[in-house]
Amino acid sequence: MRSLVLILALVPLWRLHAQEAITATIDLRDQRNDRLEVELIVPPLGDAPLVFALPRIVPGIYGAMDHGRLVGSMEAFDGNGHPLPIQRIDVDRWRLPSPQGLHRITYSVDDGWEEFDIRFSVGNYRSSEGTVKPGAVVLNHNTVVGYFEGHEHLPYTIELKKPATHYAATSLPRMYENGEAITFNASSYRHLVDNPMLIAPADTAHIRLPDINVLVACHSTTGQPIAQSVAKEIRPLLADQRAYLGGTLPVKDYTFLIYHNPSDVEGSTMGDGLEHSASTLVLLCMPLDPAMIARSVYGIASHEFFHTILPLSVHSEEIEHYDFNTPHMSRHLWLYEGMTEYFAMHMPIKQGRQSVEEFLGVVQEKIRMMRKFPDDIPLTDLSQQAMERQDQYYNFYLKGTLFCMGLDIALREHSNGAYGVQRLVQDLQREYGPGKPFKDEELFATIARLTGPDIGAFLQRHLNEPSVLPVKEWFAKVGVTIDEHGSLHPVSRPTAAQRRLRAAWLGA
Ligand SMILES: [Zn+2]
Repeated sequence: MRSLVLILALVPLWRLHAQEAITATIDLRDQRNDRLEVELIVPPLGDAPLVFALPRIVPGIYGAMDHGRLVGSMEAFDGNGHPLPIQRIDVDRWRLPSPQGLHRITYSVDDGWEEFDIRFSVGNYRSSEGTVKPGAVVLNHNTVVGYFEGHEHLPYTIELKKPATHYAATSLPRMYENGEAITFNASSYRHLVDNPMLIAPADTAHIRLPDINVLVACHSTTGQPIAQSVAKEIRPLLADQRAYLGGTLPVKDYTFLIYHNPSDVEGSTMGDGLEHSASTLVLLCMPLDPAMIARSVYGIASHEFFHTILPLSVHSEEIEHYDFNTPHMSRHLWLYEGMTEYFAMHMPIKQGRQSVEEFLGVVQEKIRMMRKFPDDIPLTDLSQQAMERQDQYYNFYLKGTLFCMGLDIALREHSNGAYGVQRLVQDLQREYGPGKPFKDEELFATIARLTGPDIGAFLQRHLNEPSVLPVKEWFAKVGVTIDEHGSLHPVSRPTAAQRRLRAAWLGA
């Protein structure tokens, strides 16, 4: 039966289901008025009224973006080219009251931003949007291609037309390619949205290692190639992540899409990234300084690549069954964002790339910023209200991350140094994974079963109740003090117990 299993595994899922795809045609060569014209050919979807939509929000983003706001001139036609009624219900959705014979939908879309500069406002997640210019296109499909409510599982075929001079970098599987035309297939709307594209004159580098192939595709608006220097930084990052994760990387093929624009404000830089299962889109606004770009990419790429575990592999039902219009927010953003950021913060010292002093400098800055946020709302409650409480959201990268640091120290203390959050996350990967989400309310019980009731109480106290994190107490266990200015210092004569615990925690 082995050969039969193999053959089945090679047949793409959408063929087995024999479902007709929605075919979207996008011509990047036609950018009249800075807009793209989109045509969708729609398979029969029945005679009941339909709702066509663009996402209000996408996975990895915790604030409403209303991607439908960029859409105009929506029209629907039957197979004979006769218009069918279609009415806008709200900013993101259109209703087709009598879609009998529906064959084609056409509309135009504006781009979300013109240039990636240091302009920034709360709730503005530019890595979920894109820009359309003759020189380069950053394409997030959720801003260009829509879905029919209740039919998000349908496969998509993307017929992309582009200038022959441009290369389309993406992890989306390509079926056909010929100069100016490429055909891509996605197994569902979720799969399509999970694979952004950078379409620009080729500036690419490949990193081929025994366990992973990585494409680094870049575009700098300066016209200078940067991919080779960026790839030099990503190669050791992959080695560090493999070691940090216990010897294996979570994916085999991965694409970094990196868009760079020089900052026009001296001394100001900005980076933004959005994680996906097989790629990350990184937006950078900073001087064309290869060393600075490489350093920023290391930090952002590190965080985003760790997301392939949390939440892209280990996550709750809320994320597994994602609703693009009104997603149910999980209680565990402290895990998805806090732990991911803790891994990115902890890895450099753990892998010997940073001194204790450098590491403590990063931690003390997070503590300083955390203290600007109120402590009266438990992080699990804040997680469920993330979309409404955009003013508090950033605290997941501060308090969420510092909580994970405290959890790491507590776990090490309870296990004579043997077990920390790295092992905990590996254990969670054994319990859960894609297609096997956890129930939001059961996660703490699972962690308590894996680690002990004291850790269960620790989670309850600091995540389910309003809590001021006792960082001073945690640092005392590892021989670190906080002075009156908030600076962290290793104590000059640590006890043997402090030394042992610090070595287990930091490897230093
Ligand atoms: Zn993140």
